[in-house]
Amino acid sequence: MDLNFTDEQKAFRAEVRSFLEQKLPKRLSDKVRLGQRLTKDDYEEWHAILNERGWLAGNWPKEHGGAGWNAVERHIFEEETTAAHAPRIVPFGLAMLGPVLQKFGSKEQQEYWLPRILNGDDWWCQGYSEPGAGSDLASVKTTAVRDGDHYVVNGQKTWTTLGQHANMIFCLVRTSKEGKPQEGISFLLVDMNDPGVTVRPIVLIDGEAEVNEVFFDNVRVPAENLVGEENKGWTYAKYLLTHERTNIAGVGFANAGLANLKRIASLEQSNGRPLIEDPLFAAQIAEVEIALMAMATTNLRVVSAAAAGQAPGAESSMLKIKGTVLRQEINALTKQAVGPYAMPFVSEALEAGSNVGPVGPDYAMSATPHYLNNRKLSIYGGSNEVQKTIIAKAILEL
Ligand SMILES: Cc1cc2nc3c(=O)[nH]c(=O)nc-3n(C[C@H](O)[C@H](O)[C@H](O)COP(=O)(O)OP(=O)(O)OC[C@H]3O[C@@H](n4cnc5c(N)ncnc54)[C@H](O)[C@@H]3O)c2cc1C
Repeated sequence: MDLNFTDEQKAFRAEVRSFLEQKLPKRLSDKVRLGQRLTKDDYEEWHAILNERGWLAGNWPKEHGGAGWNAVERHIFEEETTAAHAPRIVPFGLAMLGPVLQKFGSKEQQEYWLPRILNGDDWWCQGYSEPGAGSDLASVKTTAVRDGDHYVVNGQKTWTTLGQHANMIFCLVRTSKEGKPQEGISFLLVDMNDPGVTVRPIVLIDGEAEVNEVFFDNVRVPAENLVGEENKGWTYAKYLLTHERTNIAGVGFANAGLANLKRIASLEQSNGRPLIEDPLFAAQIAEVEIALMAMATTNLRVVSAAAAGQAPGAESSMLKIKGTVLRQEINALTKQAVGPYAMPFVSEALEAGSNVGPVGPDYAMSATPHYLNNRKLSIYGGSNEVQKTIIAKAILEL
């Protein structure tokens, strides 16, 4: 397997880099670099810039308005955008729902919803998890009962990321209690402005209300919002998860985090010299960097195989674990590098334009919030413990 980039791929990288130099607003990249909070408008502004260039939906085929990139091109795009501190692309409509509609949606659903995702007419969120259904997703209890040409939805979703911005939610709902739990689940698109939908924020450990609880109380949803067939939602849900888990290694994010860590360690002092020259700290950075290089190589192998048409198997579980643990280690070292400045938490300083500044240098203000927030990495997208079970069964054959 050849892990070197072709001339064509190198030219593509140069094209992405020059686009970012010209089109990525400095106001946005500054926010990302400093770890400040991004608003809904920020995300929508960046989405619109990418959409104008035809690069918003890298994973969608051209016939649906996507860029039609293969896995290597998507990988290059991710490396360049994270290095340039671009905002992340919000995945719910683009990386999750879009591919499901393209494969299982009706022609009418595709024609109606897909352009709206690209144009930013709808902000989607993911209604999979419930208080009693996370790792064990097949236990979803939110019900959808057919009543004429509507479904009546009752129940609760939780951990709904950025649901406070959303006007639409794609939900796994129970439409049958017969047979195996997986056989009674359907995939339904719900308008969050409909009567009976309540969104309640959950404030996380870093002080930000990034996730929500969503309640459904006799919400009437048009039957035409059912995707595919009734009770076949488990198949679509799993298909979506394979897309949720693309780029799961997060090499670009880890590289950006490592570069930031090195910069901070060269600015901070320890015993009269830059922290990065402290043998113990330098050794800890080197250990993380070597592990990251090894993971990046494994990731390239998986990306290269995917570009050649092979579906990623249990390797993605290895990448999920390694990638998330490495990013958490980088967060921990960054927190350590800023020393006492990791202690004060000035929430207002994380809002760009606030007249309340951070305690200490600006690069220190997001070290602790990021460290705390990224505990989530080993929980969502399939917890790391669950990934270990997959590796045990599929790779180690235990
Ligand atoms: C910040 C954040 C954002 C999220 N965003 C969304 C979202 O937008 N939409 C959405 O639908 N969901 C979202 N989730 C939910 C996420 O997918 C679930 O939290 C995750 O699947 C784990 O489920 P749980 O929280 O119910 O924990 P549980 O499944 O109850 O797990 C609790 C613990 O037990 C372990 N465990 C469970 N089962 C096994 C097993 N079989 N073997 C070994 N260990 C096991 C887990 O690893 C974990 O440590 C988000 C979660 C977080 C933290």
